Amino acid sequence: MPPSYHDPILVLTADPQVNSLVETLLQPEGFNVRVLGQIAEARKALNEGLPRLVILGEKLPDGSGLAFARELSDITPTTPVLLFVYQESTAVLKQAIQAGVLDTFFLPIRGEDLLKLVRNALAIGDRRRGWMQKETRIATANLRSQMSDLEMLGQLSRSITSQLDIDSVLSTVMDTAVSLTGAEESSLLLVDEATGELYLRASRNFDKSKEQGTEFRMGIEDTVAGTVIRTGQPILLDEENLKKIKTDYLVYSLVYVPLKTHDKPIGVLGVDNRNLKKPFNDYHVRLLSAVADFAAIAIQNARAFSNTDTERARLESILAKVQDGVIILDAENKVIFINQGARDALSLDNSDLVNLPAETALKNSQIKDLLERNGSRAEINLEEGRAMDAQLTPISDVGTVITLHDISMFKELDRAKSDFVNTVSHDLRTPLTTILGYVELVERVGPVTDLQREYIRHVQMSVHNITNLVNDLLNLGRIEAGFDKHKEIVHIDQLIGEACETLKDQLAYKGHRLSVEIPPNLPPVWGNPILLSQVVDNLLGNSIKYTPPGGQIFIRAEVESDQMILKFKDTGVGIPPMDLPFIFDKFFRASNAAGEAAGTGLGLAIVKSIVENHYGRIWVDSVLSQGSTFNVVLPLYEGQEEEK
Ligand code: ADP
Repeated sequence: MPPSYHDPILVLTADPQVNSLVETLLQPEGFNVRVLGQIAEARKALNEGLPRLVILGEKLPDGSGLAFARELSDITPTTPVLLFVYQESTAVLKQAIQAGVLDTFFLPIRGEDLLKLVRNALAIGDRRRGWMQKETRIATANLRSQMSDLEMLGQLSRSITSQLDIDSVLSTVMDTAVSLTGAEESSLLLVDEATGELYLRASRNFDKSKEQGTEFRMGIEDTVAGTVIRTGQPILLDEENLKKIKTDYLVYSLVYVPLKTHDKPIGVLGVDNRNLKKPFNDYHVRLLSAVADFAAIAIQNARAFSNTDTERARLESILAKVQDGVIILDAENKVIFINQGARDALSLDNSDLVNLPAETALKNSQIKDLLERNGSRAEINLEEGRAMDAQLTPISDVGTVITLHDISMFKELDRAKSDFVNTVSHDLRTPLTTILGYVELVERVGPVTDLQREYIRHVQMSVHNITNLVNDLLNLGRIEAGFDKHKEIVHIDQLIGEACETLKDQLAYKGHRLSVEIPPNLPPVWGNPILLSQVVDNLLGNSIKYTPPGGQIFIRAEVESDQMILKFKDTGVGIPPMDLPFIFDKFFRASNAAGEAAGTGLGLAIVKSIVENHYGRIWVDSVLSQGSTFNVVLPLYEGQEEEK
């Protein structure tokens, strides 16, 4: 603000004569004179606004005038101070100058002389303030322009982070380069990785490509832009080192800065003036370098985005073409992707299913069940006898992938095989019974030698084994076909008691110790008592069979939330690790089993089928030569309806 005529002239001396002289002299001239009594008052007045002039006494009622003059020169260096002294001496004058006082006076003084003194002091004060204001204006103008440059860079950075479309980002980059440097034209050249040349990627007011009629390209060996790429340093050209640039156009001034990603130059950002006789300076180089950094980030982002985009498109086209059905669901089970294989399998038309909930989109209750119970796989039975193996895989940060593999052919083969095995087994049973009957008769109809008796035992044992196999096969066939559907409340502790009773001779024969641990009031399960007792018999039977004499067998039942866990643990031969994955397969017998005992390899397959028919799970933990634990989990009875 320029000094106003109304800014006060403060008068503070210990001499009432001086005070009233100044007042009566200056007031009629229109000056705003404030006579103050003490330094404290003067300080308060300074807080209210800066004075135009201060007339101080050498001595003040509450302190030294010189000391206060020094204070004033700190607070308001542009305000002139006049000092009233009692006596003018060189020493006093020197002190006054050191304290920043403009002039001194003493009494007597003529009115017109004092007025002249005051006017002169005011003129000096006004000049000082005028100068200061001009300087401030220059300084703030610079600052303001730098702030607007920064603001523009800020906008550029926002536009880069908010946009993925590289063309619009580069267009903003070109505009910013031109606006910030006040250049006529800007250009962005990128290195073509294939040829090593530079090509024009974006520009503003720069129409070289049209002029040349072809794409604007240049080598990097003998060009200014090429030098920037080779050295990684900016180049500033102006009047003094003006050159004919290797693009056969002449410029008046030019700045080229490198675009770097991972410290490697990938291009050049340039601005130039061709007609405008305006030079660039280091500040422009710095600004353009900042713009180049942003442009490099934008290009890097766009390249990364386009890479992932291409990769995604490729993956999508692979997934779309695979024969198996693939369905990808998000965390809320909404469809993200479904391929033709899945549409064919589930007989879905080509309508857009993306973003629909799986339940509505897939229209399949078995998949819905699988998702609801968070299972890992299920067999999906479809129309016309088709069957799919549905596998559900949770994928973190994505959701779930369901793959559908057509197993109709295997099911058909399996059915044919089972039918065949069932028929054959059935047909074998009668002749086997006949053989056994006749073999038993042999001894009764006449005397036999010891050797003949031994042969008869062999025949009986073999027929017995075949009968067991046939029975197992028939059993398995029945369970797999789902014949024994009847379910009721089953008390597993009773089944365990019965099994121990049935097998007590075998236990005793092998000299095993058995310990059974069942919590009191074990809750029941819902199932088929005959099938479940087969599970218990089989597992206990195996523990006895595959444990060398004098072993230890534990049966343990536990309840965990709504499940029952049964453990059959032995100190037997164990199962070789490589055999573990196949142990529940039909006819599979572990490599260390052959010598142990006769068997068909069907027992565990039967057990697994039964457990799964009861919505349970079975698995084994085993250490070779130390023992095995078969674990069975069955859901507890929850008040299900009886089905016949
Ligand atoms: P089988 O006993 O008739 O051979 P299973 O289906 O009951 O048929 O068992 C398959 C195989 O699993 C057995 O041959 C044996 O190798 C192995 N096995 C089963 N139970 C045990 C066990 N408790 N300890 C060691 N191996 C076992």
